[in-house]
Amino acid sequence: MHRGNMAQLTGQLLETLGPKGIVRDEGQLESMTKPWRDKWTSEPALVVQPATTSEVQSVVRICRELGFPIVPQGGNTGVTGAALCREGGTEVLLSLRRMNRIRELDVDDDMLIAEAGCVLNDVKDAAAEVGRLFPLSLGAQGSCMIGGNIATNAGGINALRYGPMRNMVAGLEVVTADGDVWSSLKLLRKDNSGYDLKQLFIGSEGTLGVITAATLKLSMLPARSATAIVAVKSPVEAISWFRKVREAFGGQLTACELIERICIDVTARRIPGIVDPLPTKYPWYVLLEVDSLDPDAELEGRLGSLFEQAYDAGVVLDGAIASSSAQAQALWHLRESIGEAHRHEGVSFKHDISVPVSKVPAFIAEAQHRLSELYPGIRSFAFGHIGDGNIHFNPVQAEGEPAESWAGKLADINRVTHDITVKLGGSITAEHGVGQLRRSELVHYKSPLEIQMMQSIKNVLDPAGLFNPGKLLL
Ligand SMILES: Cc1cc2nc3c(=O)[nH]c(=O)nc-3n(C[C@H](O)[C@H](O)[C@H](O)COP(=O)(O)OP(=O)(O)OC[C@H]3O[C@@H](n4cnc5c(N)ncnc54)[C@H](O)[C@@H]3O)c2cc1C
Repeated sequence: MHRGNMAQLTGQLLETLGPKGIVRDEGQLESMTKPWRDKWTSEPALVVQPATTSEVQSVVRICRELGFPIVPQGGNTGVTGAALCREGGTEVLLSLRRMNRIRELDVDDDMLIAEAGCVLNDVKDAAAEVGRLFPLSLGAQGSCMIGGNIATNAGGINALRYGPMRNMVAGLEVVTADGDVWSSLKLLRKDNSGYDLKQLFIGSEGTLGVITAATLKLSMLPARSATAIVAVKSPVEAISWFRKVREAFGGQLTACELIERICIDVTARRIPGIVDPLPTKYPWYVLLEVDSLDPDAELEGRLGSLFEQAYDAGVVLDGAIASSSAQAQALWHLRESIGEAHRHEGVSFKHDISVPVSKVPAFIAEAQHRLSELYPGIRSFAFGHIGDGNIHFNPVQAEGEPAESWAGKLADINRVTHDITVKLGGSITAEHGVGQLRRSELVHYKSPLEIQMMQSIKNVLDPAGLFNPGKLLL
């Protein structure tokens, strides 16, 4: 693809962006090229950080002209290798981190216009300052950025109530492969004037254009919340408990997470400060949060009586309701630390599947049974957003198994796990996306027609393959 050389590329980008626009600092470069998981390397030809939409346009035009593909990047917290450059130093890494302004915030419209490089936590703080909630909530929120959240259609623990990022985006500003700016940054909640183009870019993993800003929908900031953890015998009872709480609290139920015992053992062993949530150990747990706009709402009392009914009916075995915000935070810290703890516990094969909520118990039972039959001693960790049917299922090698022999099983383990998922009507990725990690799996499980339609969209919006080649599509 190259029509120009590195000297031309560096010269033209330096002239356009100035020295601040080219990243040379070793520490910064490391944070932009090191994957959150150590699986990949990233070798950019150059790393640029434009400060405005018009500078992004210039980068796109120069790269297109000289034939250097572009990899857009936000906080680099993605877990599928989608924001990394391939080997060989042929791609330009375009970081949005300097585009971090909140351009507008309106409480009548309940909308906020944020640039793509705003860190998610900063957007949440800005909304909270005016009594509003930006509901997206995930473990990486101190580093991930709005553009990355949109490009991955991030989910997180509050997706149960508010939906994934797609539901929170009202408009986008995007730099296209021609270097044009397409903007739908309106403060509109309804717009039926033709195809909803923004939806194409949401979840596109940087393959269709560079998102430079977004109009985001805000919600009301709850005045009160309550967090409860209960122990259950199996995922079947976990679903029964979830149903009871949902029937009682409806839209006030914001998060509902399933945690297998082994996840707590590993997290307590690996992450300082994590302690067992209940005095006795149980096989499975459900952690949930309800909230209310009413400062006098009796959330704990209602949760307590529901718990008693469920206990009498044999649905739950034990439980606790957080009595302070510190206790609630400790419970959510436990949940958010499970992923990090896994990193230290052998090499885990991470699956991020979704199935209909009613099929979660069947998925876990069948996947764990099948894998233990095939690979005795395998340790399968299951946890995640049970209310969305989105389970993180991460098998780790048997104690003492060498990494090389374990690595050779990846393809089979993926196939077994994903076959069961698809048989139950599910998806091979509910949150994290495809990136480099699941490209071949995508082709295996999507119909040829779906792949052809996706490829046609790519060909129309990015005919030269400028944006993020080698990701999502083969
Ligand atoms: C501890 C931890 C917990 C996590 N929990 C969750 C979770 O609960 N739910 C969930 O969904 N994810 C989760 N993730 C994954 C990750 O945080 C999300 O995918 C997040 O949305 C990525 O944002 P980012 O800014 O880091 O994007 P990056 O990693 O920088 O990029 C991700 C993708 O988006 C593209 N991209 C980035 N910015 C732009 C842009 N401006 N324009 C076009 N394309 C762009 C990149 O090219 C790449 O394809 C977690 C990750 C970690 C490390």
